[in-house]
Amino acid sequence: MSASQIQKLLAKLPEITGWIDATLAAHDGLSRPVTSFGFKRLPEYYSPQFLAQTKVVVVERIPVPPLSALGLQELAAFEQGDYAGITFKDTYFVKAAEASRESLHFHELVHVVQWDHLGVAKFLTAYAAGLAMQGYRNSPLEVMAYDLQDYFDRNGQPADVVAAVRNKLNELYP
Ligand SMILES: [Zn+2]
Repeated sequence: MSASQIQKLLAKLPEITGWIDATLAAHDGLSRPVTSFGFKRLPEYYSPQFLAQTKVVVVERIPVPPLSALGLQELAAFEQGDYAGITFKDTYFVKAAEASRESLHFHELVHVVQWDHLGVAKFLTAYAAGLAMQGYRNSPLEVMAYDLQDYFDRNGQPADVVAAVRNKLNELYP
């Protein structure tokens, strides 16, 4: 992403965060805590408080910010994707067909920590820069989520994922 593209993105941050807040507000009545799903393994990697305060919305189709309508053509490809989940701040959306997949919840929870640790502006800027430069799957914030998800899928030793993510973010975005 060039300096001028970053400038363009920064100028659109208020509109993107406005869209995110409106989307969260529109689904607020439908959200439920992760704990309500009764997953057995997530508590081995995330604290009970974290799981109780993180909200999940089950939807038929994952809402994606209208990036091309906002003039961010570099990120337009992201809008075309068919995602199983997406995270905005302390809430994530999962597709109904995949809502019972514990591994997907694990992945989105990594993004919840990223949002919390970086804050809205820094998360969005870092995520968009990664998308534009490396593409969705190889963007640093996704690599982190997929690597940890892979660890979970391979039955890796229970660990403090929140601390691991925060440490890694401090290295990547000092
Ligand atoms: Zn992800």
